[in-house]
Amino acid sequence: MTSPDTLKVGTPFDPADARRTAEAPRLEASLDDKKPLMSAQQALAEANRCLYCADAPCIKACPTAIDIPTFIRKISTGNLAGSARAILDANILGLSCARVCPTEVLCEGDCVYNEMDSPPIKIGKLQRVATEYAYDRGLQFFERGAARPGRVAIVGGGPAGLACAHELARLGFESVIFEGRELPGGLNSTGVAPYKLQLPDAIREVSYVLEIGGIELRTGVKVGQDLTFAQLEADFDAIFVGVGLGPDGVLDIEGEDLEGVVGATVWIERMKLEPGFGLGGVKKAAIIGGGNTAIDVVRELRGLGVDDVVMIYRKDGAAMSGYEHEWSAARIEGARAQFWTQPVGFTGEGGKVTGVRCLSLKPMGPDESGRAWVEPIPGSESVIGADLVVLAVGQSKLESMMSAVEGLAFDKGRLVVDAETGQCSNPRYFAGGDCANGGKEVVNAAAEGKRAARGLARFLDARAQQEADHG
Ligand code: SF4
Repeated sequence: MTSPDTLKVGTPFDPADARRTAEAPRLEASLDDKKPLMSAQQALAEANRCLYCADAPCIKACPTAIDIPTFIRKISTGNLAGSARAILDANILGLSCARVCPTEVLCEGDCVYNEMDSPPIKIGKLQRVATEYAYDRGLQFFERGAARPGRVAIVGGGPAGLACAHELARLGFESVIFEGRELPGGLNSTGVAPYKLQLPDAIREVSYVLEIGGIELRTGVKVGQDLTFAQLEADFDAIFVGVGLGPDGVLDIEGEDLEGVVGATVWIERMKLEPGFGLGGVKKAAIIGGGNTAIDVVRELRGLGVDDVVMIYRKDGAAMSGYEHEWSAARIEGARAQFWTQPVGFTGEGGKVTGVRCLSLKPMGPDESGRAWVEPIPGSESVIGADLVVLAVGQSKLESMMSAVEGLAFDKGRLVVDAETGQCSNPRYFAGGDCANGGKEVVNAAAEGKRAARGLARFLDARAQQEADHG
């Protein structure tokens, strides 16, 4: 690979260094694995329950279309390497997806056993058995394709960027990933709940993806600051954008700047990555929001031993966007909710937060147009005591980061992409993951990164052909 100026910024990824960093003591390491690895006997018994359905609904429910009956059958015959290969062939992030996928609403949610009032096949757990078998033995199934002309800059070293880079390598194209943080992995490293996946495994997966070759990864490079999109356009044939979402949303209410009021992704990232970061004696925590990030924080704080963890949400449990199974688990673990409640400010003492000032809400409507809304109940103000308040009210989009690029279309802050190819309205740009889908699962990002790699291959081949035709 040639070395243009763009390859001098940041630090080349060193798997051994990253592994050492990941193994330093961090708060997330004290949280238990909620879905521990099955034993070989358990895996065999579970695999033997599978009906190997024709036209299997579980495959259709998987965004990466893993051939689930095939990988399960291979487990049942003791061919764990073949099983892992089938998984990773469809989804190179199969190791992390086995842990972090909401299987309850994806493959397992569509397993035919649900219609027979029997528990669905534990597909996620079986996938974990097979992929960990391969990783533990250093089994590498993939190699670079024969070289084809075309180099791609990948902005963002998270699931979408990694999946895109790996598929490009299999297709014979070189790529350079520019990751803004010091550690790659995106949400798998910085944001996934530690009872599902922790940093050492996220780094292990990144290293595995890169083993194929033809992918250079440079960390600590903020595109837009350390490197411009114009430089990338000058040095690369095409650009894939997989930058995820932006900073935590805020409420803009009184007291939000008090110590102890933090954004959810900031708090999770510190808990997962920062050596020495601790709870600092927190006894009462309030989490504002009703999505999956809010529930993750609730469960993490309970798991870390915080006595009183309350989720504050402006509607009721049925209206929450977080998964029902995750909220049920949080309640079993001792969390509670304060529904129909709206924060209007924070109380503090000595610069530190002491509570959340709230109003009770009442549901209104629906009106003639079917619209429902909530209204504050006059005189209902109360204070919920808290020495930590975590705001999980969404994340901003990174549209402004891309403002210097001509011809990109956005819809509500999301990059608009072609549904078949992931190509943006500026044809040299492709995108996938949260910045294009608005915030979905790791498995969606993996699928969209791979889709874009195939779109990029068509684009680069056409470009090379054009250049050949014009001598
Ligand atoms: Fe096996 Fe369930 Fe998929 Fe059928 S739907 S192939 S039983 S996992």
